[in-house]
Amino acid sequence: MKRALFILLLLCAVLFSGCSSQSQQGAEKKVYASTYPVYYLTGRIAENGIEVAAVVPSSADPHNWEPSPRQMAELESCKLFIYNGAGLEPWADKVSSLAGDNDTAVLELASVFQGQLIDGSGEKTGSPGERHPEDHNHEWDPHFWLDPVMAKEMAVAIREALIQVDPDNKELYVENCAALEQDLDKLHEEYTSTLSRCRKKEFVVTHQAFGYLAKRYGLEQISVMGISSESEPSPSRLAELTKLLKESNIRCIFTEPFTGEKVAQTLAAETGGEVLELNPIGGLTETQMESGEDYLSIMRKNLEQLKVALEYE
Ligand SMILES: [Zn+2]
Repeated sequence: MKRALFILLLLCAVLFSGCSSQSQQGAEKKVYASTYPVYYLTGRIAENGIEVAAVVPSSADPHNWEPSPRQMAELESCKLFIYNGAGLEPWADKVSSLAGDNDTAVLELASVFQGQLIDGSGEKTGSPGERHPEDHNHEWDPHFWLDPVMAKEMAVAIREALIQVDPDNKELYVENCAALEQDLDKLHEEYTSTLSRCRKKEFVVTHQAFGYLAKRYGLEQISVMGISSESEPSPSRLAELTKLLKESNIRCIFTEPFTGEKVAQTLAAETGGEVLELNPIGGLTETQMESGEDYLSIMRKNLEQLKVALEYE
């Protein structure tokens, strides 16, 4: 009888200790990737190797999401934390400053693009270290994943970080990354050949997310709202845009799922234009996930939409 009780107590102790340290232990072995594009690239390279978890829920707007204290604790004790940077996830800087105490490796992907970041006005380029927080218009544009060539550079940086924390799987990561790079090369070729056969160069977007894509393919992005998906245009800015669109004979206005639709409809009504959708791939909806959509498939859908707006011949 005493023996049975002892075993029961022992079992409880084991169960309880298992419960209390489960999340911490789990986190220690994992790689956390902040936003969907970072998660997609990391997941492809780490496939069949180290476990990768997404931080920002796929359906959330990455510009506005914030982690809970419990999620912060997990991030600070994980094996490797990879984030986009350039101001997209302001909370991530806090993780990276605290992570040092726990042997957590941190990779900010924006650091790969020294001197290549576009500023909020779309005119200047610079490095992630130099920020101008006092002037919203001079924040860096964080949407570099929408340029397939830059996505490839992100992939290489992710591969190196994975090899650092999990050298036993080096061959696997090299192989997986090579396959991903091939996919991104193919995507870049499709964009290059398609966009070179379009008559127009200018396109209008509500959310200023396509600056790197435009720069890569010699296009011009005209933005109604700013870098963050929230800011609303002033009436004078709207009037200015209406005039510009009429003068340049631009008939398509791109909006994105969930935001900017009202303003796009207003502009379209003023100019006799049409509203189309261009997805900045900040996250995927559950429906998109279930139907097997991913970064590559949405990039191809975006190209189809650009073909319409830019008058593919
Ligand atoms: Zn964005």
